[in-house]
Amino acid sequence: MSGARTGRRTRSAARLQGVGSTIFAEMSALAVRTGSVNLGQGFPDLSGPGSVVEAAYEAMRAGTNQYPPGHGALALVDAVVRHQQRHYGLDLSPDQVVVTTGATEAIAGAILGLVDPGDEVVVFEPYYDSYRAMIQFAGGVRRPVTLRAPDYRLDVPELEQAVTERTKLILLNTPHNPTGHVFDETELAAVADVATRHDLLVVTDEVYEHLTYDGRAHVPISTLPGMFDRTVTISSSGKTFSFTGWKIGWATGPADLVAAVEGAKNWLSYSSGAPFQPAIAHALDHEDGFHEQLRDDLSLRRDHICAALDDLGMEVHVPQGTYFVTTDVSDFGYADGLAFCAGLAERAKVVAIPSQVFYEDGSAEGRHLVRWAFCKERDLIDEGIRRLRATDLHA
Ligand code: PMP
Ligand code: GLN
Repeated sequence: MSGARTGRRTRSAARLQGVGSTIFAEMSALAVRTGSVNLGQGFPDLSGPGSVVEAAYEAMRAGTNQYPPGHGALALVDAVVRHQQRHYGLDLSPDQVVVTTGATEAIAGAILGLVDPGDEVVVFEPYYDSYRAMIQFAGGVRRPVTLRAPDYRLDVPELEQAVTERTKLILLNTPHNPTGHVFDETELAAVADVATRHDLLVVTDEVYEHLTYDGRAHVPISTLPGMFDRTVTISSSGKTFSFTGWKIGWATGPADLVAAVEGAKNWLSYSSGAPFQPAIAHALDHEDGFHEQLRDDLSLRRDHICAALDDLGMEVHVPQGTYFVTTDVSDFGYADGLAFCAGLAERAKVVAIPSQVFYEDGSAEGRHLVRWAFCKERDLIDEGIRRLRATDLHA
């Protein structure tokens, strides 16, 4: 209930109630404060390709420093079209693409542009924190479907049960943060079947599309029969090219849904990142090799950190994609992962993310789960492991 209604003088709007600040910012601040190795917030230590940095410089020097079009710089829109064609065989026209300020703004645009107050949105719990904020801002209602440890596969009957006559859309995320689960074709077909039978939209967050391991393919749900027309697909250059701070993302889909995303996005940032947009166009066209190498490196780092965490006595849920691994820390005697992570920063000087923040309030499912980021340089991961080994991890 808002402060205004209870008579207290709350100056913030009711829509912020319970949303809080992002766990990533909180845990990164904790890492700085305690001098910890930051295995929390998912950003790589190293920048992406030098040729892309050069392209950004060049754009700046050439005067690409004023507002780009709200729809996106033509060069980037065209490069996204080529990317979708080359990787997924999708033939898009420019009005089926909109450039956004990171995937974060694409998510905001999609939810604000497609969800009316009272509409229900199916989300796969644990879910990325901005989904909750945006559904709340839109006045929508979350309908969580829990992906359960250790393999986090979709429970199809649970998905069926979550759908009601008020459901507007399914908010999918694959490869999935925080679990690292990559939805396979059977699971995607089940989501597509439910969406089709109930005439639902799908918004799918695929920012880790190029970071899948062990030869597992990422399949965009928009490529399944009949799905393109009901799907908004979101991605970002942040994860693919290690430029998380540039915040260049995009949404693709049928023109009317993309126009809805753009219709909301116009009143958020309108546009951003003028010199970065042509640079990311260059990355999409010429730097596939970067994310292929990144994927191979990350898969080695994944194996390394998983073995070390296992050795420390945690149950490890090996991810199929993304750059996060989840462990169960219940054997260490802490009440929950929040207490474990708070204690860890003080005692071991290592920061990780308590996964319970990605679950509905009060849910017991993620209580003892902790997420570790391995997109860091090998030396930093090793220093983190060394500190963990030197610490008694029990409460
Ligand atoms: N969705 C997921 C699942 C993420 O992990 C992130 C973090 N990169 C985002 C969206 C936000 O992406 P961006 O940094 O491009 O806004
Ligand atoms: N996506 C990153 C993560 O999951 C964080 C992005 C952010 O800080 N908003 O760690």
